[in-house]
Amino acid sequence: MDFWYKDAIIYELHVKAFFDKNNDGIGDFQGLIEKLDYLQDLGINTIWLLPFFASPQKDDGYDISDYYEINPDYGTLRDFKKLLGECKKRNIKTIIDLVVNHVSDQHYWFKDVVKNGEKSQYWDYFIWSDNEEKFKETRIIFSDTEKSNWTWQPDVKKFYWHRFFSSQPDLNHNNPEVVAKINEIIKFWSGLGVDGFRLDAIPYLCVKEGTNNENLEETHCVIKNWRKFFDANFPDKIFLAEANQQAEDLAKYFGKGDECHMAYNFPLMPRIFIALKKETRNPILEIMENLPEISENCQWALFLRNHDELTLEMVTDEERDYMYNQYAKDPKMRLNLGIRRRLAPLVDNDRRIIEVLNSIIFSFPGTPIIYYGDEIGMGDNIYLDDRNGVRTPMQWSANRNAGFSQSSHQLYLPPVMDNVYGYQSINVESNLSQSSSLFNFMKSLTAARKNYRAFGRGKIEFLKPDNSKILAYVRTYEEEKILCVVNMAKSAELFELDLSDFKANRLMEIFGQSIFTPVYNQKYIFTMQPHSFFWFEIKNTEK
Ligand code: MG
Repeated sequence: MDFWYKDAIIYELHVKAFFDKNNDGIGDFQGLIEKLDYLQDLGINTIWLLPFFASPQKDDGYDISDYYEINPDYGTLRDFKKLLGECKKRNIKTIIDLVVNHVSDQHYWFKDVVKNGEKSQYWDYFIWSDNEEKFKETRIIFSDTEKSNWTWQPDVKKFYWHRFFSSQPDLNHNNPEVVAKINEIIKFWSGLGVDGFRLDAIPYLCVKEGTNNENLEETHCVIKNWRKFFDANFPDKIFLAEANQQAEDLAKYFGKGDECHMAYNFPLMPRIFIALKKETRNPILEIMENLPEISENCQWALFLRNHDELTLEMVTDEERDYMYNQYAKDPKMRLNLGIRRRLAPLVDNDRRIIEVLNSIIFSFPGTPIIYYGDEIGMGDNIYLDDRNGVRTPMQWSANRNAGFSQSSHQLYLPPVMDNVYGYQSINVESNLSQSSSLFNFMKSLTAARKNYRAFGRGKIEFLKPDNSKILAYVRTYEEEKILCVVNMAKSAELFELDLSDFKANRLMEIFGQSIFTPVYNQKYIFTMQPHSFFWFEIKNTEK
């Protein structure tokens, strides 16, 4: 294992949203294959594919009806294998989404139970109750849609347990047979050549009376079981944990290096947005300084936005109100306990801010993730239901259907067409033709990151200049030393940094390769533009 995931730059996409090769209005694997050169040009080296399995699509594919079948709208297993081959040719790794907590009510396990009741061999694959009183302490996640975690099944005359939509019965991971079934699924897709699995919603696997049914010891045992099986058979592949929890509970999904290789840094994400509006580094520092240590073989996954609402489940009430007031004044922008907006509209399409935010996730300890379309500044459509507003077709050009499809029928969702973010102005073609475009900025960021292993593997040390609007940190790995400085303020700032540890070193700005004044004494004076950042390589002058 070479810890490849530490040097990864991940691109998150849904195959249906990327490119439609057969012109049926829905993106497909053949279309994605055609656009791999674009992704390679952007400089990413890993793709994370949202669920593409057979599904009635009640929850955008997170309701799987067959783990071994590909949704025919997206192509065939042969197409998928071809995609893996084309990715390998380009040194692009593939992480796929694996929904382990629940299945669709159309999965044959559930259908068999509905048909045969308690006689079904799959009865114990699900969690049943005669009433809705059980597990009262458990919160409801999709609070805008679901009023209970129990739904009545009229044929078997019992309630079944579900943490998500009622069409997604939870699997009973207290049953070892279910745990073993997941191992078989992991084996199948690993055997085909995928490099990793994003384990969806893993804090909720097991249940136990008298608890809130999150982060149970039993759940960690299940994940350890999968990891053991995984390591024994596929030692170079990874698990990525989706566990939207407070830092302490979240870090437990790394185990002692024997659960998930990676986990999303949910606590950090909203604090970056809060810090930006408050024009202070403090919310970021508070989170970073209280993150538990993780094992050498583990890595955070860093993101600004993704396919879900920007979750505010795990922040304080005060922080949530602040985020709503600053970023989602219109109630239509809110969903459950979160904000359903893309990055560019969240920050009023402010290019400097978009750059600064990306610079943070590209230089903090962990592996950065770009959500498809955010590299060109795509917008959202808050008039679409649920989370569809951030799942619209990729905008390739100003042509019909945003260049996404030649279909004369309706697309799976309409492309964004408003004045600011519509595909006539925001698209890949125009980004590629302008040297100063956001795409080209993102490309310079991926290139810079790949030049220094300190970003993915190094230690971080925060410098704390008196001016609290400045976020400054040094990343160190072996001989490499990188100084990162961010001005979080909307004003130009002057400040002194204590660089006494680097006396007699020179600072080389990484993007332009300009050499700055050597560090003569401990105080180094900077001036910075509003919402701007610097990355310097700290170079020993004696070398
Ligand atoms: Mg298609």
